Amino acid sequence: MFHKTDVLVIGSGIAGLYSAIKISEFADVVLVTKKEKSESNTNYAQGGIASVLDPNDTFANHIKDTLIAGAGLCNEKTVEILVKEGPGKINELIDIGTGFTLKDGKLDLVREGGHSFNRIVHAKDLTGKEVERALIEKASKSPNIRIIENTLAIDLITEHNVTGLKHLPISSRHCWGAYVLENESEHVIKITSRATILATGGIGQVYYHTTNPPIATGDGFAMAYRAGAKMGNMEFIQFHPTSFYDPNPGSKSSHSFLISEAVRGFGGILRNSSGEAFMAKYDTRKELAPRDIVARAIDTEMKKGVMSMYFLM
Ligand SMILES: Cc1cc2nc3c(=O)[nH]c(=O)nc-3n(C[C@H](O)[C@H](O)[C@H](O)COP(=O)(O)OP(=O)(O)OC[C@H]3O[C@@H](n4cnc5c(N)ncnc54)[C@H](O)[C@@H]3O)c2cc1C
Repeated sequence: MFHKTDVLVIGSGIAGLYSAIKISEFADVVLVTKKEKSESNTNYAQGGIASVLDPNDTFANHIKDTLIAGAGLCNEKTVEILVKEGPGKINELIDIGTGFTLKDGKLDLVREGGHSFNRIVHAKDLTGKEVERALIEKASKSPNIRIIENTLAIDLITEHNVTGLKHLPISSRHCWGAYVLENESEHVIKITSRATILATGGIGQVYYHTTNPPIATGDGFAMAYRAGAKMGNMEFIQFHPTSFYDPNPGSKSSHSFLISEAVRGFGGILRNSSGEAFMAKYDTRKELAPRDIVARAIDTEMKKGVMSMYFLM
């Protein structure tokens, strides 16, 4: 068995589905995904997406907040693109059919840590699930997109698979698609394409504690690395400050779910097991400090032996 397409997309989260929808306007797409099409980090995202959508908010404010939260490590040009293209992308998601929560007929914008303004657009507390639903519905209707579920991409087809060409410099290599494993038949098949997009999400499963689903095993990074791609920024992992703590995450009954940042946005106070509200010791913004600061503060409290707990005001 063998497929040929213009563009092969690997992954059915927001990145893969959105790319497939855009590309399908001018080319044929095959999208493979290793489980069911909705199984992705995207489906578990809760709080929402930050964007300048209130007429009283400004791009300059959002850029400033992002650079502060990035602790001087952000690429400023990239931040500017992210912030300025944000409202257009949110409107595109609405046009695709995403039902964001409204208040008095307008988008209900809430606040999260690190933001100086209410700018989080959300779909109740299940934002990712709603975005994923709308994107899957749109992609499934396109005659130019074929979604193949339960199919695991194993390796990219490049010269690195050919004896004698292994040492060809990366700049002279081509990618002609990927070898994929059909879970049910256990057959490896070849999908050739003019372009291949890796949208395989993150690597949360390398950590003992994670809120990521089991699909988050960094396959795309591994495939790209084996093919000789230059890896960058691998040290940037987001540690979300608050989740339900499971002391035994490996067990079958394990369920370590995220406690949304919006809880702190609405005034939730973090307390340790002595009942002490500890965030003021770490940052003047307290619970609304950027995530890395809050995560480190909780970690410090836990290492002192006082388990952090979440209390609402
Ligand atoms: C609990 C939680 C809450 C979050 N909350 C927010 C939030 O409020 N706001 C926000 O902006 N972000 C949030 N995020 C982060 C956000 O969900 C991710 O940044 C985003 O969804 C990543 O999208 P993606 O398309 O890159 O990857 P994913 O959504 O993870 O999609 C990856 C896809 O690739 C597939 N795949 C992987 N390997 C292979 C392979 N070898 N072969 C075939 N398919 C493969 C997977 O099955 C999946 O379909 C949250 C994340 C989590 C886990």
